[in-house]
Amino acid sequence: MQKNSTDLSVVIPVYNEEDNIGPLYSALKPVLEGMGINYEIIFVDDGSTDRTASALEDLAADRHVRVLEFRRNFGQTAAFAAGFDHATGEVIITLDGDLQNDPADIPKLYEMAGRYDLVSGWRRNRKDPFLNRRLPSAIANWLIGRVTGVKLHDYGCSLKAYRREVVNNLRLYGEMHRFIPAVANWYGVKVAEVETTHHPRTRGKSKYGITRTVKVFLDLITVKFLQSFSTKPIQFFGPMGLASTLAGFAVSVYLAFQKLFLDKAIGGRPLLLLGVLLIIIGIQLIGMGLLGEMLVRVYHESQKKPIYALRKVLGNGGGDQG
Ligand code: UDP
Ligand code: MG
Repeated sequence: MQKNSTDLSVVIPVYNEEDNIGPLYSALKPVLEGMGINYEIIFVDDGSTDRTASALEDLAADRHVRVLEFRRNFGQTAAFAAGFDHATGEVIITLDGDLQNDPADIPKLYEMAGRYDLVSGWRRNRKDPFLNRRLPSAIANWLIGRVTGVKLHDYGCSLKAYRREVVNNLRLYGEMHRFIPAVANWYGVKVAEVETTHHPRTRGKSKYGITRTVKVFLDLITVKFLQSFSTKPIQFFGPMGLASTLAGFAVSVYLAFQKLFLDKAIGGRPLLLLGVLLIIIGIQLIGMGLLGEMLVRVYHESQKKPIYALRKVLGNGGGDQG
């Protein structure tokens, strides 16, 4: 066991989980101690309005615990992103703060993270309501698999293990955390799936409803677009633009021929409108592709911008290393 390096960072986003913090910590602690490695636990308080913050303050006395407190509720994805930014471990494991994921699964994921870059939990016997949870989730998993080409049984499971390099490359937005395996796959990481235990929620309330499905669907469109075209927008818009311009041009030539050589009136013909429209749309599309090319350069070359604002960082600051 090396003294100054962290083997494992456990990242836990919590939002109004006052009654879960204590039991979660008690369940987590013996598991992590039993692994005989250097670890840290990073709680990200996502702007809780109940007593979560004070419960976490008590835990920060443990030198293994760090607490990041958001200024307001930025959402689970932002909480993960903050945890990743502050984690110092070689392996990073995320889990829910409501004890629905089982801390006992952590050693298994940690061990697998030695062989894979990303290990994703699969809640095979998921203990959530069928109609508004498991059903939309099953459809989403199927759809995400089809669209992104990365087939997992359970994209929504928060219990995942990442090797450090994987999260270093991630920039997360929207409800994007559930697409990490798909996004990461496009960096060429090795993804594995492992069955994990799932428990029903016993304390506190779920933070999501059926409306999440819509957000996930919209994010899927973004992910697909970024995955396929983000580095080559002109190749996406260009062909459509060229086809449209050429079609418009052909229509115009046809009409011009009729006017000039056959002396027909073309002013009132719908075809004229179509021809002009096709040319304008075509040029617009090509222009959009070119604008996209410029944006892509800015996007890829600009500095890192965090998607959250921290109020304070409690406990083991991670800065005292070396
Ligand atoms: N969570 C969060 N910010 C939010 C919503 C949820 O940090 O805006 C946390 C929440 O405290 C829990 C985890 O994300 O630890 C999963 O949330 P929840 O259990 O409500 O989701 P479900 O299991 O019902 O899908
Ligand atoms: Mg839950």
